Amino acid sequence: MALIIDGKKISSEIKDEVRDRVSVLKEKGISVTLAVILVGDDPASAVYVRNKKKACEYCGIESLSYELPSDTSEEKLLGLVDELNEREDVDGILVQLPLPGHLDERKVTDRISPEKDVDGFHPVNVGRLSMGEPGFVSCTPQGIMELIKRSGITVEGKECVVIGRSNIVGKPLSMLLLRENGTVTVCHSRTADLKAVAKRADILCAAIGKPCFVTSEYVKEGACVIDVGINRGEDGKLRGDVDYEDVLPHVSAITPVPGGVGPMTIACLMKNCLESAEKKADR
Ligand code: NAD
Repeated sequence: MALIIDGKKISSEIKDEVRDRVSVLKEKGISVTLAVILVGDDPASAVYVRNKKKACEYCGIESLSYELPSDTSEEKLLGLVDELNEREDVDGILVQLPLPGHLDERKVTDRISPEKDVDGFHPVNVGRLSMGEPGFVSCTPQGIMELIKRSGITVEGKECVVIGRSNIVGKPLSMLLLRENGTVTVCHSRTADLKAVAKRADILCAAIGKPCFVTSEYVKEGACVIDVGINRGEDGKLRGDVDYEDVLPHVSAITPVPGGVGPMTIACLMKNCLESAEKKADR
């Protein structure tokens, strides 16, 4: 019987651990604060921001919310980031992506101080990750590692195959697997004979953005399969990048969609905010 990795349960455990550590800081008179900037009125982004605020509330983290109109100038947005960088009481800064087209996302995320970059998107933190140094790690790949570790799955010495090389999932995930001594292969849309490469994997991670792409033909008997994909079908249902029913009889462990990787992202965002405040407390 395959282990169905319960992301809801594991993310709740992490949020509870964060809440406990936040209250320890509070007893020392230190509060934890996340500033969230939302530009424009994209409904999906508004939902993400609302969920982040709810998680902050649960964990005892203060959230400062900046909801700016979609015609906000780059100068104004960068000015706000500068102001939040300077504020001693702000531990984390998050700019909800995507930004409206006239704003340069790279320029804006690069402006966030690396010490407050709780999304882990700043080149300094990306560099730290690839050099194996401590720093903020992008929340979704960090969440995936928590799922793997907390399910008792070891990475060391294993063949790990990551399908997808995006900056927010595929690349940082491959770095994290490497850090845990996995033998890592990163695949993408131009990989030749993807099925054969994927079939080598003891741990197969799919971050593609194509519903039910990974079938049993891609999966080695007994592999652990991590499905990062979130794809909404025409029927309104969420589907992962993995054909769950087809793959299930062949795996030793698998993450479902929904309820697998999805809930981990916000939990790790909370963890990053807490750790930023703990570092401040140590200074
Ligand atoms: P992306 O579009 O930036 O990257 C997709 C990657 O898949 C690319 O590197 C591309 O080379 C690869 N790819 C595309 N077609 C392929 C093919 N036919 N064969 C092999 N590789 C192929 O996407 P992303 O931001 O990395 O997100 C990937 C998926 O994960 C999406 O479904 C997204 O919604 C989901 N996601 C989930 C979370 C979460 O919290 N669970 C967070 C971020 C992204």
